[in-house]
Amino acid sequence: MKPGPLLVSACLLGLPCRYDGTSKNKRSLDEALFCVPLCPEQLAGFSTPREPAEQREDGRVIRLYSGEDVTEAFERGAAAVVEYCRKRGITRALLKGGSPSCGEGGVTAKLLEKNGVEVEYID
Ligand code: SF4
Repeated sequence: MKPGPLLVSACLLGLPCRYDGTSKNKRSLDEALFCVPLCPEQLAGFSTPREPAEQREDGRVIRLYSGEDVTEAFERGAAAVVEYCRKRGITRALLKGGSPSCGEGGVTAKLLEKNGVEVEYID
């Protein structure tokens, strides 16, 4: 990865922002000193904990139990992350795999890559 600030899925740094109110801390804070933790779903305005969602083959994001279509909100969160990266000059990101936002092909991940951000994934 290139040098400079690194965007990181906030849950990977221990922020309890996942749908079920937990984190997915995989890296020590020592390793992450020059990181910016962002959670696109929180930036979209969702509360934590929240109902989980999945991305369908057509790209729509649907809540697992209620069936609510939350695609537009996910796109808002993704746009907020990309705008933040643009303003801060962030050109690389470490994202949590398997998420409809941060995972490979997820709404935020896709938009970051489309905007030239180099993305790596960690499960
Ligand atoms: S949207 Fe990203 S940062 Fe937020 S909980 Fe899901 S994987 Fe973690």
